[in-house]
Amino acid sequence: MRRHADLIVLGGGPAGAVSAWLAARDGLDVLLVDPDRQAPRLEGLSPRLHRWLARQGLLRGFSAIHGPLRRQVDWAGISDSNAEHVVLRHALDAHLRRAAAAAGAVPVVASGRPEAGGAVLSDGRQLRAPLVIDARGRKAPAAGGRAPATVALSGWVVAEAAAPGIRLAAFAGGWLWRVALPDGRIWAQALLDAAGPGSPEERLRAAIAEAEPGLEAVPAGAVLAREAAPRLPAPVSDLSLLRVGDAFAAMDPLSGHGQFWAVSSALAVAAVRRTLAARPGSEALCRRFLNRRAFETSLHQMRVGRDFLRAETRFGAAPFWSARHAFPDDRPLAVPAVPRIAPGIVIENGLLARRELLRTPRSPGGIGWFGAIPAAEVWRRWQQGGAPALRARWGEAAPTLARRLQAEIGPEPA
Ligand SMILES: Cc1cc2nc3c(=O)[nH]c(=O)nc-3n(C[C@H](O)[C@H](O)[C@H](O)COP(=O)(O)OP(=O)(O)OC[C@H]3O[C@@H](n4cnc5c(N)ncnc54)[C@H](O)[C@@H]3O)c2cc1C
Repeated sequence: MRRHADLIVLGGGPAGAVSAWLAARDGLDVLLVDPDRQAPRLEGLSPRLHRWLARQGLLRGFSAIHGPLRRQVDWAGISDSNAEHVVLRHALDAHLRRAAAAAGAVPVVASGRPEAGGAVLSDGRQLRAPLVIDARGRKAPAAGGRAPATVALSGWVVAEAAAPGIRLAAFAGGWLWRVALPDGRIWAQALLDAAGPGSPEERLRAAIAEAEPGLEAVPAGAVLAREAAPRLPAPVSDLSLLRVGDAFAAMDPLSGHGQFWAVSSALAVAAVRRTLAARPGSEALCRRFLNRRAFETSLHQMRVGRDFLRAETRFGAAPFWSARHAFPDDRPLAVPAVPRIAPGIVIENGLLARRELLRTPRSPGGIGWFGAIPAAEVWRRWQQGGAPALRARWGEAAPTLARRLQAEIGPEPA
C-alpha cells in the first residue's frame, strides 16, 4: 500500500468521495480512507444534488434511486404535498467511491484519524501527506456546539399495504419520516430525544403508532440508531487539515439537504485547495472564505431549521420541541430586507476570488453570477431601467436574467 500522497481523505461518504474525485481529476495523488462498513439506509435526495450528480456523470450506472415519490407533509397543522427522490445511501456512497477510484484516487479500506503530517490508521500504519481532508461525518470529533442530544431510529418495517410515497409527520415526542417504495418495502425513521425508555425497536414502533396510527407497522429487522443532533462548525485556522460535510457542520436531518451541503462543502474545499496551491500568500483569503461559510451559511441554515421547528406549535411544551427552540441561538434570521450589493469571496473557475455579491432575502449568503453574468451588475442595470435596461445590455439573454432576478427579489422589485 502506498504511504505517501498529495492528499489523504478520511471518510468516503458524499463529502469525502466527491473531495477525492475532484482532487484526483486535478491530477493529485489521493488516498481515500474508508472502512466500507456502512449500514443500509434510505434518505431523501434533494433535487439540486440530484441534478448536480447527474450533470457530472456521477449517476451513470447507478440505479438505487427511487422516485419521484409523492411526499405528504403534516407539519404545524398544515398538510402539504410535493415530490421527492429517495436513495439507498450505502449504495450511493460506494458508487461515488468507485467514481473517485476510477478518476485515480487509491482506496484504503480502513479507519483512520488525522495526525501531524498525515493520518494514522486503526492498525497503527501511518500515511503521509501535506494536506488531509477530514470527511468522517459525525464520527469526526465535534468541533463546535451541538443541539440537544438526538437519536434517529430507522429501519425497514412491515405494515398493512401503504400507498407508495413519503410521509413527514410531527408528533409530541419528535417527528417521523416514512417511505413506502413502489416495490412494497417500507422504511421508517423517527427523530427522538436520545434518552428515552425502551429498546430501539420498541421506541421506533411507538413513534410510528403515534405519528401514523393507521399504519400498524412493526420493525422487520435490525433498527439502526444514529446520533442526529445538528452541529455547529468551529473557526478554521489550520489549513493543512480541512473538514468537509458533516465533519465541518451537520445540519438538522429535517432539512433533507445534508448530502447537498456535504457535496457543496467538498466543492468549496476543493477551491481552497487549488487556491492555496496556485496563489502563494492566499492563506488569509482561504481562512476568511471558510469562516464565512461556517458562520454565515451554516448558521443561517440552522436558524432556518430552528424556525421550522418553532412553527410546529401544537407540541411546543413537549420536551423534544421546547428543548430545540433555542438552537443554534435565539437570534432572528439575518436576511437583507431588500437586495443589496456587498463584497464577498466566490469560486471563479475553480479558484477563490474577491467579487461583488448580490445579497437577497432568498439568498442572504449572496449570489455571484446568473450564468456567466455578474449578479451585482444585473441588479444595478435593473434598478436603472428594469427589463428594457437588461435587454439593451444583454440582448437575448435578458428575459432569462429577468426571470432569475425576479425569482430572488419577487415580481415587483423595490
Ligand atoms: C437520521 C438522519 C437522516 C438524514 N436524512 C437526510 C436526507 O433525507 N437527505 C439528506 O440529504 N441528508 C440527510 N441527512 C444528512 C446526511 O446523512 C449527511 O449530511 C451526509 O451523509 C453527510 O455526508 P458526509 O460525507 O459528510 O458524512 P457521512 O455520510 O456520514 O460519511 C462519513 C464517512 O466516513 C466514514 N468514516 C467514519 N469514521 C471513519 C474513520 N475513522 N476513518 C475513515 N472513514 C471513516 C464512514 O464510514 C462514512 O463512509 C440525514 C442525517 C441523519 C442523521
